[in-house]
Amino acid sequence: MCTGIKNGKQHTFNICISSLLFLFVAINNTDASKNGPKTDGKWIIVIDAGHGGKDPGAPGSFSMEKNINLAIALKTGEYLEENLKNVKVVYTRNNDSFVDLKERPKIANRHNADLFISIHSNSAKSKNVTGAETYIMGLAQDEANMAVAMKENEVMLLEDDYSTKYQGFDPKSPESYIIFTLTQNLFQKQSIDLASKVQAEFSERVNRNDRGVKQAGFWVLFNTTMPAILIETGFITSPVEEKYLNSAEGQDYLASAIYRACKEYMDGIDSKSGISAGRQNDNTVKAGTGYASPDSSNELVYMIQVSASGTKTEIKPENFRGLKDISEIYTEPRYRYATGRFTDYSEAVKYRKQVESIYPGAFVIAVKGNKILPLHQALEQKRKK
Ligand SMILES: [Zn+2]
Repeated sequence: MCTGIKNGKQHTFNICISSLLFLFVAINNTDASKNGPKTDGKWIIVIDAGHGGKDPGAPGSFSMEKNINLAIALKTGEYLEENLKNVKVVYTRNNDSFVDLKERPKIANRHNADLFISIHSNSAKSKNVTGAETYIMGLAQDEANMAVAMKENEVMLLEDDYSTKYQGFDPKSPESYIIFTLTQNLFQKQSIDLASKVQAEFSERVNRNDRGVKQAGFWVLFNTTMPAILIETGFITSPVEEKYLNSAEGQDYLASAIYRACKEYMDGIDSKSGISAGRQNDNTVKAGTGYASPDSSNELVYMIQVSASGTKTEIKPENFRGLKDISEIYTEPRYRYATGRFTDYSEAVKYRKQVESIYPGAFVIAVKGNKILPLHQALEQKRKK
């Protein structure tokens, strides 16, 4: 099993990518480095209504998944924009149109989105299966989760020439999914945090059967450069839930739950970013070996992001819980603050573990020329050198 990167074992990792990832070169045209539109420091939330157009998604007895997803997506967006002045919503589709699977994460990356939320409805062979579950990117832990991801990825087969467009990825082959181990650490904590809040809202406030937070390899989550989740709102194959998912009331409850989860998540991040309160901390984090020279600005390096904020923070240790060596990276509309600078990914992962004692939400980012690259793409670039 290919878990080298998780364990920081460069050796195993190299074997993984050379045997499997050669297919995925240049999959993503560095969308993350493109400037998004001007949004005056707003949170940008991309809402992705699954399927659409010629792709109906899972069939119910009287309805189609694509229409349920769109209705809940639009309502969620309305809730967010009407209630939160600091949010701009971007939809991957706002009508019954077909959007390529690979285009969906690109839309989010182009807008430098802060959150990506994909909305789907589930299906099962048995009519008795009910409940909501929320996925984050990762390697599926069991066959049922893998099957959900396979189903949602299969839409790429509808595209002309999909084997070229998706660089040989076969949505039906379990082996193809090993590529997704690469992204296990990327925004995982933030994504779990948001996913957990969605599930809590669903079960506590909307009375849904809570199937929990799960992970599996979804193409739409794989290529995003921000915290990203995929929500399976309920089972279209259950007569009770199909009725609920198609009712205005049901859609409204589900959308309001997703909205509240987002709000709670953003409140948490914004309060964490309010680090100018001057909290002193004597913790000193020592960098390991593999430290890159601080002036190598155009070199691809790995850093540890500790906070993000819509406003600029003066770089001094007391503003960063005592951490020295903080760099500012501006990715519109937010300032990101990161520490450490490594040419070696596994060293960055080790350092992150130290930083976590001070900043529990810290995570590794890949930076080149003051731009953030998707982590898997950075790792691939390094490998080719
Ligand atoms: Zn779906």
